[in-house]
Amino acid sequence: MVEDRSPKPIHGKAAVCRAAGEPLTIEDIVVDPPKAHEIRIRVTCTSLCHTDVTFWKAKGGTWHFQEYQDTKRIRCDHCGSCTSEHSNLCDSVPFIIGPGMRRDGTTRFWDAQGSPLHDLLAVSSFSEYTVVDVNQVVKLDPAVPPKLACLLSCGAGTGVGAAWRPAKVEPGSAVAVFGLGSVGLAVVQGAKMCGASKIIGVDLNPDKEEVGRSFGVTDFVNPSQLDNRSVIEVIVEMTGGGVDYSFECIGVPSVMTDAFRCTKMGKGKTVVLGLGRDSDQVCLPSLELLFGRCVMGSLFGGIKPKTDIPILAKKCMDKELQLDALVTHELGLQEINTAFDLLLQGKCLRCIIRMDKDK
Ligand code: NAD
Repeated sequence: MVEDRSPKPIHGKAAVCRAAGEPLTIEDIVVDPPKAHEIRIRVTCTSLCHTDVTFWKAKGGTWHFQEYQDTKRIRCDHCGSCTSEHSNLCDSVPFIIGPGMRRDGTTRFWDAQGSPLHDLLAVSSFSEYTVVDVNQVVKLDPAVPPKLACLLSCGAGTGVGAAWRPAKVEPGSAVAVFGLGSVGLAVVQGAKMCGASKIIGVDLNPDKEEVGRSFGVTDFVNPSQLDNRSVIEVIVEMTGGGVDYSFECIGVPSVMTDAFRCTKMGKGKTVVLGLGRDSDQVCLPSLELLFGRCVMGSLFGGIKPKTDIPILAKKCMDKELQLDALVTHELGLQEINTAFDLLLQGKCLRCIIRMDKDK
């Protein structure tokens, strides 16, 4: 008799969001074998970001909760966007926010009762096993520690990438970074790597001054401590006319406006990285826009994961980038709700979820 070696469903633990804003439940789930162009992965470690908090709070379906052991962005390597240096969004397998595998919209995850569970952004790594599209996977040198890999595949890659790729920060320039969470601190590292000479960190949390300076912030502004002056006035004065580049790393429309308005007339560039709510609108004074300043948004800091993540990993291994300090906590999957609390309370930068901690 010929042994049946075809892949079978696998049982494992996963963190599931059953209702918006409610604690995640750790459940025994079934993960289907991969279909064509997919890979089933055993997750060893992952991390969470404020994007998880945003989706967790949002109403809309049972998410099989997630983070990014690999990356959310797809790359086919052949379409107009993949072959262009100006975009990191693939035309042939588009980025969608809803659940379902990228190519056929079906799920690979089932709960103990046999009901389907949804992924989020086609990556589900708050789970011992997951299935992703082959185009979402980046192969790294085995010497790269998994902890570093999961930083680079989300906020750290986004932050460093934004300064490096879409902004193209130039040596000697002045930069403002709004929000010093791990995305903002990674922008700080990216701006430093590109040779910025003044890096102004802006955050409501006073504790972020010290941590910001350890990452490369040269000046700190707390908007709640400005004696009736606006953050725009203060930054324009500090820089003699405005910063060359500003980055919004929070997701608040009014802060996006501030980030734009504190840039230099004639050349300032603002990169929005923060994820707002669906209905949010950003208000930009049209006259100020006319004065040669630009605003752009960026998913994943504009980087092309398959080529750029290995470059950034090497820079980290060579200590050209110092992202290790972004890891402030390590917890097991069973403690994932504590990780959410730490992020909500501003007490952690990146919390690594290690699957072996529960064993
Ligand atoms: P975080 O919660 O760790 O950090 C946010 C920081 O902003 C905190 O230090 C907080 O004190 C500060 N802050 C909050 N409101 C403020 C205000 N009004 N003024 C000044 N400071 C304020 O978040 P994070 O994980 O670093 O993520 C930041 C943002 O980036 C989120 O919106 C997240 O969804 C988004 N994100 C985007 C991408 C992308 O591809 N563009 C990727 C990852 C994360």
